[in-house]
Amino acid sequence: MPKRHAVVVGAGIGGLTAAIALHRRGWDVTVCERAPEPPATGAGIGLAPNALRALDAIGVDAARAAGSAIPDTMGVRRPDGRRLTGAGTAEMAARYGTAPIAVPRPAFTAALAAALPPRALRYGADVTTVDDAEGRRPTVRTAEGSELPADLVVAADGIRSALRRTYFPGHPGLHHLGETAWRTIVDAPDLGIRAMSETWGRGERFGITPLADGRFYLYATALAPAGARSDDARAELLDRFGSWHDPIPALLERVRRLDPADVLQNDLHDLAAPLPRLHHGRIAWVGDAAHAMAPNLGQGGCQAIEDAVVLAHLLPAGDAPGPAPDAAGAVPAALAAYTAARRDRTDAVRRRARRVGRLGALRHPLAAAARDTAVRAVPDRLALRGMDDLFNGFRLPGRHPAEQR
Ligand SMILES: Cc1cc2nc3c(=O)[nH]c(=O)nc-3n(C[C@H](O)[C@H](O)[C@H](O)COP(=O)(O)OP(=O)(O)OC[C@H]3O[C@@H](n4cnc5c(N)ncnc54)[C@H](O)[C@@H]3O)c2cc1C
Repeated sequence: MPKRHAVVVGAGIGGLTAAIALHRRGWDVTVCERAPEPPATGAGIGLAPNALRALDAIGVDAARAAGSAIPDTMGVRRPDGRRLTGAGTAEMAARYGTAPIAVPRPAFTAALAAALPPRALRYGADVTTVDDAEGRRPTVRTAEGSELPADLVVAADGIRSALRRTYFPGHPGLHHLGETAWRTIVDAPDLGIRAMSETWGRGERFGITPLADGRFYLYATALAPAGARSDDARAELLDRFGSWHDPIPALLERVRRLDPADVLQNDLHDLAAPLPRLHHGRIAWVGDAAHAMAPNLGQGGCQAIEDAVVLAHLLPAGDAPGPAPDAAGAVPAALAAYTAARRDRTDAVRRRARRVGRLGALRHPLAAAARDTAVRAVPDRLALRGMDDLFNGFRLPGRHPAEQR
């Protein structure tokens, strides 16, 4: 029996998770990725309880697949080391079913790719157009001359999504957040660090996240105009953060020994406004293509994972018996349900991430001091409760009664 066919544009976390989830719903999947090969670098990524639960719903155990470490505590500090807020990860696991973890990105995307059937993932496949005329199956065309007819197209083409620009021409696009971010991974098993921490200075932040095997994912942000770069990011990090509390100087000493190419730097953007809907005809947008957000809550990838799992859940099974329900518009109807399930949640997270970023990036000494006092004044228990809607907010919506399998 022929199966429905989904073409996924982009093999980032959103696209790969969508492909796995659709494959497990009985769909044939083809993932087109323009990069010639899997990424070798990419620092780390934090996966919050909501994303871990969504992955669990499609049978993916991220910690086992990509390797992770569970720190003892998570918290925010000042550059002098004074604690502002925090929680024990055991307490978080009790509240949310699991503690947040962090994984190396290349290992995580490799593990996702390995969960796909052979030949589903095509590297070096740069999608140039997707024709989606009403009443017809969409066709995906690549620069290399492939033409792929599809029952569904998943636009997972990232923050600069060309498909978003094509299908939402009136959308204002990206908003520059006025910050730059650095990311890298260092080996430091000897430093005995057991805490996941973020330190807020004035217009600058530094994050430390334990990975498996004594490695640490480090990130830092600073206020900077778009495109601003120093000659040597390693020296700039040491210069900006070298006098902050322990173990930051020791970690930066490891950064200094890295190859310069292993320190990634990005200008930070989010989507200037929400998309009016996350679908058009038989195309569904997931992840950064749909709702790029500031990294401050560590939720961009987590929301991409939620999108992918909810999308596949709402779609009809790919191998459903009987006449193709697509003739009756089952796929477009499922995509409308997808927008209804995901648009408001993802936009609320996007707006919250922007607000938290503004707070973290305060530069004026009085404003930063007032922020620190306010954060310290909130009891830890209440601060943790403030994460409930994020970490406990993943839900699989009910399917249409005709599509329960
Ligand atoms: C500094 C920083 C720290 C972050 N930390 C976290 C964190 O801790 N936790 C978290 O959850 N999120 C985090 N994020 C956000 C997270 O990185 C993104 O939300 C996530 O990677 C988005 O995944 P995606 O699959 O939507 O897009 P991407 O990962 O950007 O993937 C898009 C893919 O599409 C491909 N592509 C684009 N156009 C085409 C085309 N025409 N044809 C074929 N392929 C195409 C690209 O090559 C790319 O591989 C962070 C972001 C930043 C900048």
